[in-house]
Formats: sequence, C-alpha cells, structure tokens
Amino acid sequence: MRWQIGDVRITRIAEGQIDLPSQMLFPASDAGELAAMDWLKPHFLNADGTLTLSIHALLIETPALRIVVDTCMGNDKPREYSGNLLSTDFLDRFRASGVSPDMVDVVLCTHLHSDHVGWNTMWTGDRWVPTFPNARYLFGAKEYAYWKDNPQTDDDRALFADSLLPIVEADLADFVACNHCLCPEVSLLPTPGHTPGHVSVMIESQGQRAMITGDATHHPCQWTRTEWASLVDVDVAGSTATRKHLCEQFADEPVLVIGTHYPAPTAGHVVRDASGFRFVA
Ligand SMILES: [Zn+2]
Repeated sequence: MRWQIGDVRITRIAEGQIDLPSQMLFPASDAGELAAMDWLKPHFLNADGTLTLSIHALLIETPALRIVVDTCMGNDKPREYSGNLLSTDFLDRFRASGVSPDMVDVVLCTHLHSDHVGWNTMWTGDRWVPTFPNARYLFGAKEYAYWKDNPQTDDDRALFADSLLPIVEADLADFVACNHCLCPEVSLLPTPGHTPGHVSVMIESQGQRAMITGDATHHPCQWTRTEWASLVDVDVAGSTATRKHLCEQFADEPVLVIGTHYPAPTAGHVVRDASGFRFVA
C-alpha cells in the first residue's frame, strides 16, 4: 500500500492485525452506536461488532531522506500485550518495499509504547542490536523522560531495556522537541494525551499534504466520538481535546489522513456533515 504526496512516497509495511471487542479498546464506546455508523463498514467494523486494528510501519521517502515512522512489535520480545514472542517476516516485507534496513536515515517513534518501538532492535542470539544501523533514531525528549521515570507495566520496563537503551548505548538516539522539523517535507505535530509526548507526523510537498495519526486516534470511529478514549490513553481529557482539535484542523481540508492502526485502506479524509465528523476512506 503506497501513497504519493508531491515528491514524497509513503509505503505501509504491515506486521500484523488483531480483532478486538470495541469495549476492550474503547471502554466508553457503545456497540449499538458503532453498528449505526454505516460508514465504518466493511473496512473498519466487522459483522460481529469487533474492530480490526493493523500494526504497521510507514516508510516515508523524501528526495533526501528515508524515514521509518513507528516500528511495530518486533520479533523475539516477551510482552504481556501480545502474549508470546512474535516471529514474523516483517523485515522481508520491509525489504520488498525496495529499501533495506541499512538504507534508512531516520527512525521516528510517535510515542514509546511496545507496538511502536519493537523493530528498533533485533535479537542476534546474544544481544539486541539496532535494526537500522545507519539511522538516527528520534525519540521525543518529553516522551522519553516520562517513560524513563514512570514505567507502569512490565512491558514498559522490558521495552526500555530491549528497544530503547540499545539505541541510546549505540549512540544512535536523538531526543527532539514535539514540533521538530526533520526536513523541508516532514515535521512533527504535537498531539499529547495518548501519552505525554505523543506526536503525529505532517508531510507536505508540492502543495499536497498528509498526516500520520500515530495513536492520537486508534480507529476511525474516534473522529465521530472524540471522547471514546483508548484504554491505554494516559490522559483521557488530554487525548479527547487533541482529537477535537484535529477534527477542527483537518475536516474538509485536502489532507490525506493515514492511520497508524487503521486496517486497509488505512488512509482517507476527515469530513464534516450535519451529524458531526467522520472518516472517508
Ligand atoms: Zn499503538
């Protein structure tokens, strides 16, 4: 799956997907109301009422830089969240994009949850090494400081040890502001709430624009129901305020919205109609 924004090419590289009961992901959601959102079908709402979430990386190729946004769960990483050690062919799929890991210039993590940092590193049999050895890895300074001081789960502690520290120790990490500009075409957009230092990503080239959500939204239904916060939003009021702001900022604008967890077709536009906001894939 691939999109062209002016001179910039964006490619989705999938690791996997999961179906979840809506209540598990969004405790405040209402199954009847979801079922009534006809526009979610068939891509984003299943017949049994479950929601499909995709886990994928997005490769951004500008004229000067190859940038990977979010690195999924990764292989061989013990996590409560996934229940077992993954062993996927993600790196083969990555190479099929035409870019090999050693060609990547920048890795950007929108935030530091386990499904966004996994392929930062890979297991060689005796240690974790950077998967993208020639890249600078960008971590939000605020985000990194928060999780360093406030690990809340075993997964938080584990990912710090196996997916972040090896990058820092290899001297490949840069700690950036939430509005950091990577290059003329790519910059960060602060979207706090899901986590304190969460960022989305803006792409602009030749008058065309795209936005990568990160986990500011997990699912298109949240454009309609901005207050349906995910179970793992650190600050529910903050994430809700961020989603309301994004609705106002992007509705009816010619901005391609690419969802970090939206299953295929993954990208679309936010529109406003008489009943509020929705997402048109
Ligand atoms: Zn996520």
